Amino acid sequence: MAGRILNGNKIRDEILEEVRQEVASMDKAPGLAAVLVGEDPASQIYVRNKIRACDKVGIRSKTLRPSADITTEEMLNLVAELNADDDVDGILVQLPLPKQVDEQQVLLAVDPAKDVDGFHPSNMGALATGAPQLVPCTPAGMIEILKRSDVPISGKNAVVIGRSNIVGKPVALLLLMENATVTICHSRTADLPAVCRQADILVAAVGRPAIVTREYIKPGAVILDVGINRLTEADDVDRIFAHAPKRIERFREKGTALVGDVHPGDMAELSSAYTPVPGGVGPLTIAMLMKNTLQAAKLRRG
Ligand code: NAP
Repeated sequence: MAGRILNGNKIRDEILEEVRQEVASMDKAPGLAAVLVGEDPASQIYVRNKIRACDKVGIRSKTLRPSADITTEEMLNLVAELNADDDVDGILVQLPLPKQVDEQQVLLAVDPAKDVDGFHPSNMGALATGAPQLVPCTPAGMIEILKRSDVPISGKNAVVIGRSNIVGKPVALLLLMENATVTICHSRTADLPAVCRQADILVAAVGRPAIVTREYIKPGAVILDVGINRLTEADDVDRIFAHAPKRIERFREKGTALVGDVHPGDMAELSSAYTPVPGGVGPLTIAMLMKNTLQAAKLRRG
């Protein structure tokens, strides 16, 4: 039996509509400032999509576009100005920053109350102590997917592959807060397939195309596939999408195909429910950024 598809696009739209309604009821709309350094094409697209989402839900936004040769000190001054600007509720520093800029120092300089990405150690610490304020967007979105799809979490075995600060660790902490029994795996985990087979909820946040195959999956598990990997080699596409001739056809037309960290055919066949790639976890990130900006405005205004 094929697993149920957990439709991230639908859940994103629900959340955006909820944010839009709440923003419309406020005396003053929340404000988001995006800092986009240089001309990196991928970063430009990400920021454009975030600003579009702001427009959709009625959040005020502005984009600051310093040139690629900006220094760490200039970036720190810019962040300090945004910290002091009462019209700005959320600050988003689009990563990566140019090599000469100390990224860590810049992220640390963002006022935790305006840290809508949830990356500041103060916000990570709040999450770790079970009193979350602003939570990283992708992990928060994954919990929304589970809850809004009526997937029980409490008492379940959750296995997270990946221990990054932006996905693996925060999603593990969120699952723990929902009373799952959580195991975090990484590149040094011994017998990864055996550990993963214990999972009622399996989260893959690795960044390796279709690395999680049938021997990792307990039949009936719920799978959240965070990976976004771009395939360009026909051999890889033929192997990974052997079960889905339409995806192969589309690859022949476009020359690229997106795949997650979980083998899509094995995931659909063995899981009870799963997030597809694309259209699963990905769409939630921007929706949760909007929710965090609203949350930051509410917290700041008491
Ligand atoms: P990351 O910082 O590179 O972390 C990857 C993690 O996977 C590391 O903890 C690493 O272990 C582990 N790992 C790597 N190879 C492994 C292997 N062979 N076996 C077991 N574990 C292995 O990546 P990330 O930022 O967390 O992102 C993960 C994926 O999610 C990427 O594909 C990224 O594009 C995607 N992503 C999607 C969204 C979204 O949907 N909006 C947002 C963020 C990220 P070590 O710690 O031991 O090195």
